[in-house]
Amino acid sequence: MKKIGIVGGGIIGLCSAYYLAKEGYEVSVFDQSAMDDGCSYGNAGMIVPSHIIPLAQPGMIAQGMRWMFDSQSPFYVKPRFNTDLLKWGLQFYKHANSSHVEKAMPALHHLSMLSKELYQDFARENNSFFYEEKGLLMLYKSDKVAEEMYHEGKEAERLGLEVDYLSKAEVAALETGTKTEVTGGVHYKSDAHLYPQHFMKFIKEELIRLKVEIHRHTTVKDFHFEGNKITKIATDKGTFAADEVVLAAGSWSPVLAKKLNVSISVLPGKGYSFTLKDSDQKPAIPSILCEGKVAVTPMNNDIRFGGTMEITHTGDTKINTGRLQGIVTTINDFYPEMQVEMPKTAATWFGFRPCTPSGMPVITRDKKIVNLTLATGHAMMGLSLAPATGKIVTEIIAGKTTSVDTKMFQL
Ligand SMILES: Cc1cc2nc3c(=O)[nH]c(=O)nc-3n(C[C@H](O)[C@H](O)[C@H](O)COP(=O)(O)OP(=O)(O)OC[C@H]3O[C@@H](n4cnc5c(N)ncnc54)[C@H](O)[C@@H]3O)c2cc1C
Repeated sequence: MKKIGIVGGGIIGLCSAYYLAKEGYEVSVFDQSAMDDGCSYGNAGMIVPSHIIPLAQPGMIAQGMRWMFDSQSPFYVKPRFNTDLLKWGLQFYKHANSSHVEKAMPALHHLSMLSKELYQDFARENNSFFYEEKGLLMLYKSDKVAEEMYHEGKEAERLGLEVDYLSKAEVAALETGTKTEVTGGVHYKSDAHLYPQHFMKFIKEELIRLKVEIHRHTTVKDFHFEGNKITKIATDKGTFAADEVVLAAGSWSPVLAKKLNVSISVLPGKGYSFTLKDSDQKPAIPSILCEGKVAVTPMNNDIRFGGTMEITHTGDTKINTGRLQGIVTTINDFYPEMQVEMPKTAATWFGFRPCTPSGMPVITRDKKIVNLTLATGHAMMGLSLAPATGKIVTEIIAGKTTSVDTKMFQL
């Protein structure tokens, strides 16, 4: 059977490994880290068929410019003279229009729905990762955001999603975990959530059962070729033969893509989260506090808050306290009875979302290298879209018709 080498052991690499091993391939995963704390671990754990509008959308450039001058804002581009950032910015500008959004919406919707079904299969097998279907509440305070949320809800309904538009009193009746200070909310009943660290543990155990070889602390440095085919993966721990290679290195994908002479525009969107254990005041329904773009997810007995998007570089590992303060202020404004304190730096997690300028993930066979499949750029939806991505990667490698149309996920 063919040997598959997967570069990157985040949720995209591991879900790809799972479906490839189930298909009967001999799979190895290579990761430079201990595989216990990257972007796929501390995220908000939301599975979001509701998120059908990509980050590149009309109005985003103007909003982003306004946020640039606010130290606590949820979105920020770290200014640098760098050609990758310039190219990314230009591509983002080109995609931030309604015709792109119109094409992106059904593609994301189909991928999301497939992923949710696959999560349901995993949960039926062994729900050790606290998968729950409580939907997602978009909570807001201002009339402007209320209008935007209503419009987005109607777009989602157009694709067949079930959406409720709630008054302040209806929000209070649904969210019984703590008091909410909002003017209303939109409830997407399609959405689900889970505890990411527990899902990662679950999938790694599945991979061991399926005899996947996992190489931790193994940095992929280069590739060997015969013509337009990769033959070996060169790492700091030796060289490994491969019949097929999957590039799933998240925010680091462009560095490896350069070694392959493939151009992928992906920049890290740094975000933060912190998790309160056994808090007595605790929202019961996963929510997004819209004005501050803060994600709130109950996870078993814990509650996780996440937010901010700083477009930066992977060397930027500093915690920006201004932006963290922005998250805390938003939580306390929306949940007045929680009064969350600013978390200590050691209790603050950060991760790099792999962001493409189009806001669409890349899931495709490379055009030149015949045995290379790319699976990266999932930005704020990597957890949500991982099982479907893994399934599609497997279908691509097996030469089968893919479960969803991948036209929008090509380079
Ligand atoms: C605050 C926050 C909240 C989020 N909330 C959600 C959410 O609610 N729902 C959702 O769907 N998504 C969410 N996300 C996004 C999600 O976490 C990411 O999209 C997802 O984790 C990306 O997975 P990945 O496997 O592509 O990348 P990663 O998890 O970054 O994995 C890439 C791996 O590649 C490895 N690697 C890189 N270079 C090399 C090399 N040279 N050799 C070997 N290994 C290498 C890295 O060590 C890493 O482990 C959130 C993100 C953040 C930051």
